[in-house]
Amino acid sequence: MSASLLLDLVNSRLVLASGVSDELGDDAAASAWLRAHGAAGTPAEVADARAVREALVPFLRGETDAAVLEPWAGAMRKRARLHATGLEWVDDVDPAHVIGARAIDEWSGLQGEQGSRIRPCAADDCQHFLIDESRANARKWHSMETCGNRAKARRHYAKAKLGSAAG
Ligand SMILES: [Zn+2]
Repeated sequence: MSASLLLDLVNSRLVLASGVSDELGDDAAASAWLRAHGAAGTPAEVADARAVREALVPFLRGETDAAVLEPWAGAMRKRARLHATGLEWVDDVDPAHVIGARAIDEWSGLQGEQGSRIRPCAADDCQHFLIDESRANARKWHSMETCGNRAKARRHYAKAKLGSAAG
């Protein structure tokens, strides 16, 4: 499990040949998952985590636009707290949208001049997302051990085939 609620959330459901693997699939597992990510694990949070995931996955794949995140953006507010020495601005998020607000706040922090640092793995047959922390922001594979090595092996095989055809 990574330190990122956003990344873990969008990677938490995979459709496999053997069926759907969903870390938020049943309520007890979803509640434990949320507690492991610093939340309380309430039924409202479970519902929100599932709802925001359903919006984020197609959005991060470029299949929908940012308007799908509007319910969470609209639930995020700052409130002024008065102190003797001045004002302090604190987050005041609608409790029903608190998990989604956290995920979207994280997504926003990953957008920059070099584009988004969270994106789908480049492997056609892979459903994982990755967060690229490299300077060039050019990482392609969610994991070098699995998708990266498979791509390398395919390139090697294609080159070997080409070589034997030419020779
Ligand atoms: Zn991958």
